[in-house]
Amino acid sequence: MKITIVAGARPNFIKIAPIIKAIEKKQNEGALISYRLVHTGQHYDKSLSDTFFEELNIPQPNSNLEVKSGSQSVQTAAIMVAFEQELLQNSCDLVLVVGDVNSTMACAIVAKKMNIKVAHVEAGIRSGDITMPEEINRIVTDSISDYFFTTSLWANENLLKYGISKEKIHFVGNVMIDTLYQNLNRIKKPVFWDEYKLEFENYIILTLHRPSNVDEEQSLQQLLLDIDALATDKKVIFPVHPRTKAILGEKKLNFKNILCVEPQGYLAFMYLIKNSFAVITDSGGISEETTVLGISCFTMRENTERPETQLIGTNTLVGIGIEKLRKIYSSFLKNGKRESGIPELWDGKTSERIIDILLHQN
Ligand code: UDP
Repeated sequence: MKITIVAGARPNFIKIAPIIKAIEKKQNEGALISYRLVHTGQHYDKSLSDTFFEELNIPQPNSNLEVKSGSQSVQTAAIMVAFEQELLQNSCDLVLVVGDVNSTMACAIVAKKMNIKVAHVEAGIRSGDITMPEEINRIVTDSISDYFFTTSLWANENLLKYGISKEKIHFVGNVMIDTLYQNLNRIKKPVFWDEYKLEFENYIILTLHRPSNVDEEQSLQQLLLDIDALATDKKVIFPVHPRTKAILGEKKLNFKNILCVEPQGYLAFMYLIKNSFAVITDSGGISEETTVLGISCFTMRENTERPETQLIGTNTLVGIGIEKLRKIYSSFLKNGKRESGIPELWDGKTSERIIDILLHQN
């Protein structure tokens, strides 16, 4: 079986790493399975791409489509044009896409139009917010995939509601958590740990990159100043996403607690998360990792496509703007962490389950 694996953006790289390891394990056991890795080039900044390949030991891509930035449509179209050529030159039995970025949707459409089967890893999640580009990517990808690998039974239900037949849906768990477990004993102090005099469980991690939080310069600046004040005696480590950096520009804000740093590699970032007091973010992936690590996470969004992080895990939605965060954070300071657990099948073995299923169905 020949699989073409697609990855385009930071969270994709984290998700494909354990899938490739699971394929290589099967190859070593003699299974007839091979893969070709295609990097679309959606994220090309070293800190969002190369660093992850190096740290997670992901093999160099067989092909890089080098599409780079562009508007939603320009980028999607560029990926489609280049990926069609890729598939014409390199045939395969199955295209495997992960997550919900433009590369996920664009490559699924191209493959399906060429009558190639598509497997979607992290299928079925829905925020219900169609203004998010990711939600459109999820809906389109799930409307044409052949194999649906899900992280939760909520995702299964969403797919069933869309009329996907039960046999195509496989609840396997979370590949992002495979990567977390595979690397927990490799996490490493970031270079600035001593310089910033960081102490265990006494600093906050902040990440923001979603349009609803960062696209308007004035409100972004105000939000950061408000978070700076809310942190009172705690340092706030803020790895600034290139998207957010472009909006903030060179202007230096006068922070008391916030320390802006470059986007971190996976190993340093996980070290920071694991040892933090709390996390404030608008990332979906981080709300999953904090759930597994038992770190309180406050998500600056009105909705989530990952309800299990809220209902079982440590995630609390605090909406957009500072008001609700202020209230919820102050009650967290008073009452401490709430009880939480780890969602079913988030056990580090998801990628192996996926490859087993693919091998047995072909
Ligand atoms: N991440 C990282 N370094 C950082 C910020 C995030 O390694 O400085 C990792 C994080 O742990 C998570 C993933 O990147 O695994 C999430 O990526 P992102 O926030 O870009 O995507 P989203 O979760 O919003 O789809």
